[in-house]
Amino acid sequence: MAARKHSRQRDSIKEFLMTRTDHPTADVIYRNVRQHNPNISLGTVYRNLTLLAQAGEISRLNMGDGVDRFDGDTSPHYHLLCERCGSVVDLKLEDISAVLEKAAAQFDGHITGHVTYFYGICRRCSKPTI
Ligand code: ZN
Ligand code: MN
Repeated sequence: MAARKHSRQRDSIKEFLMTRTDHPTADVIYRNVRQHNPNISLGTVYRNLTLLAQAGEISRLNMGDGVDRFDGDTSPHYHLLCERCGSVVDLKLEDISAVLEKAAAQFDGHITGHVTYFYGICRRCSKPTI
């Protein structure tokens, strides 16, 4: 029974994440999932997010600003963080494998992966304030 309840909570977390494209934090996910699971705790949400990320069912983004974000879209794509408002948008880049080749040329060994994030100021934040 407990296992079923736990997987149901995990399912509702994943289902919520699949409806979002804005890479919500654990706190935002918790506040939304709680509406249908009033007994769920923030700790449970965080634990399930970690399990889902370890299983490769979702992605965890750590963009260096001290807060983890989560993405239900695990297809290959990149992310840009607006340094003013903290919004994270998807970047569908064609191919950056040339960077990997340059890195491989500098490294005496086998490169198994890389992490690339982009930073900038979004259009909304670039507008002059009146
Ligand atoms: Zn912004
Ligand atoms: Mn994304």
